Amino acid sequence: MSVRKAVYPGSFDPITNGHLDIVQRAKGLVDEVYIALFLNPTKHPLFTIKERIDILQTLFKADPAVKVVSFEGLIVDFCREHEIFTIIRGLRAVSDFDYEFQMALTNRKLNDRIDSVFLMTDTKYSYLSSTIIKQISRFNGDVGDFVPAIVEDALKRKMKHE
Ligand code: ADP
Repeated sequence: MSVRKAVYPGSFDPITNGHLDIVQRAKGLVDEVYIALFLNPTKHPLFTIKERIDILQTLFKADPAVKVVSFEGLIVDFCREHEIFTIIRGLRAVSDFDYEFQMALTNRKLNDRIDSVFLMTDTKYSYLSSTIIKQISRFNGDVGDFVPAIVEDALKRKMKHE
């Protein structure tokens, strides 16, 4: 039987417990989840691509069902290259919907073999975003409940040198 694959694209700047929850749940739907760090030209990241990839690789090194990759370009091209037909995205609130709807329709227009699958956030992560985490960290707030320890440490180091 062929391996069922999906890609979970994002900026992951940095990855939060909300993202991790989506990855775990996506693993229940397919055999392999590609976490793909995409360059979003409209965002100015705090962490470099290498820093984000290092964090993701450390988090998932013991998990054969998760592959960590980075990609510059169109997600449909990434999907074509890896023979992936499912894009996973998370939805937190209605405010996420407009953008996600537009992206999903655009991607289907570019390749109609690709479907986007939306996983509703767990209520305990519904308010969590990478942006909020960065804001709390900038003011030395405690992000221990919101991100894995490796991200908490990386944020502390980063803020010292900002
Ligand atoms: P992007 O720049 O593509 O929006 P993000 O890293 O901000 O990348 O988010 C990647 C995906 O994860 C998006 O689909 C986003 O809606 C989803 N996501 C982010 N935070 C959460 C959360 N707390 N719960 C569920 N989904 C989330």
